[in-house]
Amino acid sequence: MGKLSDPSYIREVLSRHGFHFSKALGQNFLINSSVCPRMAELSEADRTAGVIEVGPGIGVLTWELSQRAKKVVAIELDRRLFPVLSETLSDCPNVEVVEGDVLKMDLKALIEEKFGGEEVCVCANLPYYITSPVVMGLLEGGLPLHTITVMVQKEAAKRICTPPGRRECGAVSVSVWYHSEPKLLFEVGRGSFLPAPKVDSAVISLRMRKTPPVSVRDESFFFALSKAAFAQRRKTAANSISACLPREKGAVEAALEGLGISKTIRAEQLTMEQLAALSDRLL
Ligand code: SAM
Repeated sequence: MGKLSDPSYIREVLSRHGFHFSKALGQNFLINSSVCPRMAELSEADRTAGVIEVGPGIGVLTWELSQRAKKVVAIELDRRLFPVLSETLSDCPNVEVVEGDVLKMDLKALIEEKFGGEEVCVCANLPYYITSPVVMGLLEGGLPLHTITVMVQKEAAKRICTPPGRRECGAVSVSVWYHSEPKLLFEVGRGSFLPAPKVDSAVISLRMRKTPPVSVRDESFFFALSKAAFAQRRKTAANSISACLPREKGAVEAALEGLGISKTIRAEQLTMEQLAALSDRLL
């Protein structure tokens, strides 16, 4: 429904409901009419699958999802948007708006209650201030997810989609690549939002893996080690790991050399396979 991305309609409906944008809640609403149909299409939601959306705003993406999915559950923190959503989504009987903070919600219980525990897709234009915790929570929560299609800041999108072992990667990349196959789908300029943010965005897709790309003896130690390696990026991985975990620097260096890796290597140079092997050695 094109009018939901029309700035003059958005201003009119919001002013009628006495709504003012909250910067703190990351409220930058989409006004580019081509973005939401594309996102909804690429989310792979169809009549056999349910979708969870985080932060429907005035419902521009929600509406597109409702045209494709069996059912849409949209989680919104800002109660002031509820009367607006009742109006804009009045022709979408398969949408349910749930009030809450996505970071505090038990998503497993929500999927059980609303979708009978079946595998669902996630599709959202995420509020930037919670991108990392939301993406990490979705990946690491043991949830029945098929794909996660989200709009994030362009720089975050690049970092998330860079595999471990390349310069732009971070601890987040390790978790992303372990749990999913990430892909940068398309970029969205800052002018596509009302109000316009200071940075550009990009839509990424994370397709959940059935089996991880590496096998490790202890998953939680593998992630603790990866986070420790990236914690002090200017230092060598051995220095950073020994500063954050109860492992002697000499032991970490010996483990690296035992794997045929330089003891002065930095975290961003370690591939997923090398991190996995290191974590098994240091366990
Ligand atoms: N989907 C709409 C769009 O694309 O125009 C709005 C996206 S806007 C970037 C982010 C939305 O997330 C806002 O509606 C905001 O109120 C909501 N939000 C912010 N923090 C939230 C949280 N912790 N839990 C759920 N929703 C949140």
